[in-house]
Amino acid sequence: MTQLHHLGFPRIGDKRQLKFAQEKFWAGEMTEQQLQTTASELRRHNWLDQQKLSLNLHTAGDFSLYDQVLDTSFLVGNIPERAKQSEDDNSLDNYFRVARGRSQVQSCCSAVHNHSGETQAGEMTKWFNTNYHYIVPEFDSNTTFSLHPENLIKQIEELQSINVNVKPVIIGPVTYLWLGKEKDDSNKLDLLPALLVVYTKLLTLLKEKGIEWVQIDEPILVLEIDEPWQKALQTAYQALQPIDIKLLLTTYFGELKNNLQLACELPVAGLHLDAIKAQHEIAPAINFLNKDKVLSLGVISGTNIWKTDLNETLSWLTPIHQQLQNRLWIAPTSSLLHVPVDLESEQKLDHEIKSWLAFATQKLQELSLLGIALNQGIEVISDVLNDNRIALQNRHNSLRVNNPSVQTRVEQITPGLGQRKKPYRERAAIQHQYLNLPSYPTTTIGSFPQTSDIRETRKAKRLGQITEAQYKESMQNSIAQCIEEQKNIGLDVLVHGEAERNDMVEYFGELLDGFAFTQFGWVQSYGSRCVKPPVLFGDVSRPQPMTVEWAQYAQSLTDKKVKGMLTGPVTILNWSFVRDDLPLQTICNQIALAIRDEVLDLEKAGIDIIQIDEAALREKLPLHRSKWKEYLDWAIQAFRITANGVNDKTQIHTHMCYSEFNDIIASIADMDADVITIETSRSDMELLDVFEEFNYPNAIGPGVYDIHSPNIPTSTEMITLMEKAALRISTEQLWVNPDCGLKTRQWQEVRPALTNMVEAAKQLRAS
Ligand code: GLN
Ligand code: ZN
Repeated sequence: MTQLHHLGFPRIGDKRQLKFAQEKFWAGEMTEQQLQTTASELRRHNWLDQQKLSLNLHTAGDFSLYDQVLDTSFLVGNIPERAKQSEDDNSLDNYFRVARGRSQVQSCCSAVHNHSGETQAGEMTKWFNTNYHYIVPEFDSNTTFSLHPENLIKQIEELQSINVNVKPVIIGPVTYLWLGKEKDDSNKLDLLPALLVVYTKLLTLLKEKGIEWVQIDEPILVLEIDEPWQKALQTAYQALQPIDIKLLLTTYFGELKNNLQLACELPVAGLHLDAIKAQHEIAPAINFLNKDKVLSLGVISGTNIWKTDLNETLSWLTPIHQQLQNRLWIAPTSSLLHVPVDLESEQKLDHEIKSWLAFATQKLQELSLLGIALNQGIEVISDVLNDNRIALQNRHNSLRVNNPSVQTRVEQITPGLGQRKKPYRERAAIQHQYLNLPSYPTTTIGSFPQTSDIRETRKAKRLGQITEAQYKESMQNSIAQCIEEQKNIGLDVLVHGEAERNDMVEYFGELLDGFAFTQFGWVQSYGSRCVKPPVLFGDVSRPQPMTVEWAQYAQSLTDKKVKGMLTGPVTILNWSFVRDDLPLQTICNQIALAIRDEVLDLEKAGIDIIQIDEAALREKLPLHRSKWKEYLDWAIQAFRITANGVNDKTQIHTHMCYSEFNDIIASIADMDADVITIETSRSDMELLDVFEEFNYPNAIGPGVYDIHSPNIPTSTEMITLMEKAALRISTEQLWVNPDCGLKTRQWQEVRPALTNMVEAAKQLRAS
């Protein structure tokens, strides 16, 4: 019998129940007891659902009140000193203190920023190449470990009480160390022996609890790890081997490449591979694995939302099953944390599109069907297999997916499409003359405060409570007010303020063909924050202009230049659930052509400066560095296709919400945007070093106003920052602007901050 299991299930609940409970608890409107009860109910609900399926092992420990890596820190007693403020170190109070700091974690758009409060929150960073963010463990030379298994044991006992075979999931010791950061000059690998003592205790305890199998996640096996880390894996699993418990060493998100043999030979009872991303590694893995080891294959994508092709999967899986028999287990590729909970919640989604999708609940049903086909014979589910085939064929042939004119346009892309007419130096001179801007020109990143008025208007439109004309009038009023404010402040390049946009990707997705939107397709981004990515299901095209009217209206109100505001193709791609039937490059090019048309329409409408945001350019950098170049090449080319069809006098800006440019600076320069604005205010301009070293040729606006903080910077502070910038970048290249958009701030903060910024620019010009 092939055994069925999963690596983890979403914990937010089908209607984001966890989020609402967390937020109530933080607001003091819910007791700890009530929060824990909600958590237990969510777990119970998930397990009851899963019990209907023929899973052989039930996963415990995949639930978290905030983050599974933070849970691991508490499990092994690695709590930052500064957070130990409650009597019981292990208390929920301390837990949330590390998670959130004592002042709120701030977020802007879909990007994540951590803010220091009285107790500084743990740093947050992306979990491999997903949009999930974990709390980075902290290590120093005084770090010690101790076992605090209560939370995990509670989840195990809940499941045992309903009498199922429980497989706890824990993060492996080596990945745990890898994920963390040294706070001094100690070496975190030196902590391994002490950490292994705690893991030994934990596994011994689990054995006493009657556990047979433990899923131990070591996803760093899909990364390029050097010898000390490979050795650490050997050391760790040799140390844990004497404990009489079976370990399923679990990897996901990619191929093991150089680590494959190492992973196969570690002294554990089984190995889990992502059989979709690393299908060609299955055969060598079978060769490397001892004949008594289990091979668990991830056969259903844990990161996309498309229905699995069950027939195709069975065609390659059946021979492996015949070969391995009981030694074959099947599961989703990764934890299902990265997909929405239940497609059945969708009441408004187009029926046809819905028939192509599978969320976490449906994915486990698919797993169960594959299990039946393998264990009992394919004929038992022939009807279902037939339905599955038809659904996939319909999707493949659908006229809503296929737009021949878009496909032809993509095929006809030539390199020239991404090429500006003149090189930067020459067009910069033309723009200088034509735009007539002062040195140290001032501008903003696009959005202005989203007042409750603005949000109410958008909501009323969505609910059909106001007419198109009323909506338009109200938005025009917001634009007019925003322009008026910017005039009073004295900014040089104005924006319309983005009042009509709820989200920088959703706004465009709703106006483009090829996208669908769900009601409950939420995925946890971090803590209580969830995102609901658009579903990019078909060829992308632009039925009509999307922003021209607003930009044109704004421009009509002022003699100053108004900057048009768009989201770039890579960011739209990276923040959507993307179809799995075309190469990413092709999809990205489709979006690029659609946004290119918008750029050209803006230009035609008299908008001389156009910003194309690429906040998420870095997000889908492949896990293996050897594949970075390929990704960056097509991503940058897509940006160039979008941006570079304009005339020399039109100035292209781009904006990026982060400042890690060291490893991609050549690609950034290759975008050839006339101006790039970036986030730098908190790093004291040190992040410009890489632009200096690279001799970055085009203009740069290093952010001088930290928009994630309510603080209002003085002009002296901003002058100091710009002077530091001027040490690295020539003054003709510099712009003065905030770090990011202002939509999460209040007017009473933005007004004085920008006034100070304009004053700073004036003084810089004078000196
Ligand atoms: N133009 C967008 C804004 O100002 C940019 C947002 C972002 O970079 N995340 O809101
Ligand atoms: Zn930004």
